Amino acid sequence: MPGAPTIREALDAAQQATDRIEARVLLREVLNQSDAWLLAHDDELLTAEQAQQYVALAVRRVAGEPVAYITGRREFYGREFVVNPSVLIPRPETELLVELALQRLPAGESYSVLDLGTGSGCIGITIAAERPRAQVTLVDVSEAALEIARVNALQWAPANTVLLHSDWYSAVAAERYDLIVANPPYVAEGDAHLQQGDLRFEPRTALAAGVDGLNDLQRIIAEAPQHLRAGGWLLLEHGFDQAVACAWLLEAAGFQDVFNAPDLAGIPRVSGGRLDS
Ligand code: GLN
Repeated sequence: MPGAPTIREALDAAQQATDRIEARVLLREVLNQSDAWLLAHDDELLTAEQAQQYVALAVRRVAGEPVAYITGRREFYGREFVVNPSVLIPRPETELLVELALQRLPAGESYSVLDLGTGSGCIGITIAAERPRAQVTLVDVSEAALEIARVNALQWAPANTVLLHSDWYSAVAAERYDLIVANPPYVAEGDAHLQQGDLRFEPRTALAAGVDGLNDLQRIIAEAPQHLRAGGWLLLEHGFDQAVACAWLLEAAGFQDVFNAPDLAGIPRVSGGRLDS
């Protein structure tokens, strides 16, 4: 762009390569302003330095880097979470998992909750923030992920979250919880989606789980009864074609009230069951 562009020109230029909403997110990042400010000042000139920074971010986006990794943030359930390439980017469909967990945790009562493979921490931390009397343990096998989860836990629920380095249940072997939630890796190793879009930049270990994507779901379900109190719930996010397998695994592990819930796109997305009381 020769000379300094106005905000409108900067957005128009990037729109050809990415979309306008993303272009605005990137410009907001450079200017450190709100959307409303950008709209109200769209004939203001960028400085040469701002224009340069903006072009650099747009180039990264055009190369495929997810917006959330460029800005280092993603909104989830009304709160902003810090993210980096060590953690999966929080997705809107995962809010269903949180919703179903909250339905099983009436406000005002005390619970212990385990979030397995917490990543950014968005699931367990949201539960902890929404239910201040719940004690939420966040575990991950990745130290790098735990660093990010720690930043988010400090921001949103410092009083009732605990972080542990753990390969699924390994560090909580002797504990029992009222509710266990997990959004484990569940994509099949050979799935073409792993080579597309944001997934190319996300941690493979947080996405893929064996030839059918069921490796981790299977292990989490099979071992859950040893870590739940009587009457406790296990809730799991899974892939579009894994609801039947999850129901079967849950029943085989002795769970009752096995259910599946579709996400907003109508895709079977969360399965769960209750341990016999
Ligand atoms: N839902 C993610 C996807 O985009 C996968 C997340 C996961 O494996 N837990 O495919």
